[in-house]
Amino acid sequence: MGWLTEWRRRRVLARHAMDPALWKAATRGLQFLPDAPKLRELALLFLAEKQFAGAHGLAVTDAMRVSIAAQACLPILELGLDWYAGWTGIVVYPGDFRVRRESVDEAGVVHQWDDELAGEAMPGGPVVLSWDATAHDPYINVVIHEFAHKLDMLGGEADGMPPLHPGMDRRAWRAALGEAYEGFCDAVERGKDTWLDPYAAEHPSEFFAVISEAFFESARETRRRYPAVYEQLKAFYKQDPAAS
Ligand SMILES: [Zn+2]
Repeated sequence: MGWLTEWRRRRVLARHAMDPALWKAATRGLQFLPDAPKLRELALLFLAEKQFAGAHGLAVTDAMRVSIAAQACLPILELGLDWYAGWTGIVVYPGDFRVRRESVDEAGVVHQWDDELAGEAMPGGPVVLSWDATAHDPYINVVIHEFAHKLDMLGGEADGMPPLHPGMDRRAWRAALGEAYEGFCDAVERGKDTWLDPYAAEHPSEFFAVISEAFFESARETRRRYPAVYEQLKAFYKQDPAAS
């Protein structure tokens, strides 16, 4: 990012402050968020640079905006807002939303179906969230999930490997996450109860998004169950949430 962005950000921080009462109300129940001034500052910049839109008549309140911003900024707390550059929109639906899917099979036949989604991250485009799932689903963190996809997409197509930092080893990442993913798919196929959402078996990119939720929300348990993955995520996010 250039000097202009830097200057704008400094100006936002000089002129605005997060309203403590609003922050408290918006992050109530999100115990995994660190009580860090840095997170509040980053959320403020996020709110200045991203545009929220309500869909299906939803009026997006300040509390909704701050809640989404706070959670979205957790993965980039040590990476910086530039990791979310190149797009601005966040669309919030009151509940789950339908999207039309289409695919062409090997015989050239076009298949169409509807998917019911709680969230979606478009490559180069907006993040779409269901407010109902964001606020009330105790089993998933839609915000961290979709923003993890955004980080993954920075490396091209979402494949479960975001752009790694210098000093990180792609083979070590692939070994740790690949092995965990395969073991997980195996368990799901055998019908075993899994600690992570079985949806993580859909694709390596979903596994990365789901285990990123766990990394931030249930850090100690993630470290215990997936030590090698935890180490990779710790290096990528530059955070060690299980240690705090
Ligand atoms: Zn996903």
